Amino acid sequence: GRLPEDATVDRLVHAVHEEHRSVGEGEIPAGIPAIEEADPDLFGIAVVGTAGRVFCVGDAEHAFSIQSVSKPFTFALVCQALGHEEARERLGVNNTGQPFDSVMAVELNDHRTMNPMVNAGAIATTSHLPGSTAEDKWQHLHEGLSAFAGRDLEVDEAVYEAEVRSNQRNRGIAHLLEAYDHLGFEPDAAVDLYTRQCALLVTAVDLAVMGATLANGGVNPRTGDRVIDPAHCQHVLAVLATSGLYERSGDWLYEVGLPGKSGVSGGIVTASPGKAGLATYSPPLDPAGNSVRGRLATTELAESLGLNLFASR
Ligand code: GLN
Repeated sequence: GRLPEDATVDRLVHAVHEEHRSVGEGEIPAGIPAIEEADPDLFGIAVVGTAGRVFCVGDAEHAFSIQSVSKPFTFALVCQALGHEEARERLGVNNTGQPFDSVMAVELNDHRTMNPMVNAGAIATTSHLPGSTAEDKWQHLHEGLSAFAGRDLEVDEAVYEAEVRSNQRNRGIAHLLEAYDHLGFEPDAAVDLYTRQCALLVTAVDLAVMGATLANGGVNPRTGDRVIDPAHCQHVLAVLATSGLYERSGDWLYEVGLPGKSGVSGGIVTASPGKAGLATYSPPLDPAGNSVRGRLATTELAESLGLNLFASR
């Protein structure tokens, strides 16, 4: 199946936005100024079909730091570089059942990361990017994520600086992984790259294009450029299904029926293989760190656009 007709998609996206724009639940996390000061009313939705059609509503062009929504795309680049079997061996593909910044998930898993969608595995993923210097690794990462988005992404320096001052826990995780010989680069340098990766600025439209690229076998439907091979796309989406929404990944799959990834700044990207990428932006989060309005809007659109992978349609 395909997406419904343009006019139908457009109408549904607008209706879902209207329905959830005044939902007041969720908290904006403290700590990173640019995130802490975000307007809680910001709410954008974007859908990008695998044929390149773009539908958006609300604050879909508002720029915010990508944060954890970067994780699947960096993992995709590492799958492309190492092969998805080697990537799985090094990083794991099972849910931790723990919060995103868990140290115990490493300690209790034979001193290994459990998956690339939480901090330990994501820092390890970034450490395994091709390149022998931090500059080479950064260039690979920046060019790769920009190719997914179809435009040159910029770093929010204020977000980066603020996180450099407050990322002691991530540095602790990296040093722990180094001690267990599971890091591909010097730990502080790996965390620095990961922190920069999280500070890349995107919009909901960018995230929907990035999701649509994963849904389209690795070819960006807006630019026509191949970013990664089809075999890697399907493995990245499989890890999102197990682990994209942290310890709420099971609830998400039960409700939405699609692979997705959330981040602390309020973004969520979802991919429906062969059909579309869908992204939402709304800063207030639930206790696991997932955007409240994003989850509601995605649940409804997955149903009304016929995207749920498990529906017998
Ligand atoms: N930069 C944040 C961190 O590493 C990203 C976390 C997130 O989006 N959940 O803590």
